[in-house]
Amino acid sequence: MFCNIIAGKIPSKKVYEDDKTYAFEDINPKAPTHVLIIPKKHIVGLKEAEAADTELLGYCQIVAAKIARERGIEDGYRTVYNVGPGAGQSVFHLHLHLLGGRKLAWPPG
Ligand code: 5GP
Repeated sequence: MFCNIIAGKIPSKKVYEDDKTYAFEDINPKAPTHVLIIPKKHIVGLKEAEAADTELLGYCQIVAAKIARERGIEDGYRTVYNVGPGAGQSVFHLHLHLLGGRKLAWPPG
């Protein structure tokens, strides 16, 4: 499904794009900033990522940090992969959540 977002077949509010990644507003935000950063390469999830994806996964984190800086939420934000249905993964195209703009409790639920 997120491949269709990258392709523009499903509309989304784009936050950032480059040759490797696409970032957009989550449709059901859980915080004032809730952005999803996805690699354009289709990876099902963190479990399915391979050693060859190391740089791409790290790059998604760098994109999240850049968005957080631009949004002025560096006092406290979180980057999260939900891995597997038991952790709430509902879309099986790897996506990094960037959450911030409010107090974030620890541990997460
Ligand atoms: P997961 O639960 O897999 O970790 O996260 C999936 C996220 O994708 C959820 O936070 C959900 O709100 C978001 N989402 C699901 N479908 C769409 C969609 O069509 N557009 C956008 N912008 N977000 C979506």
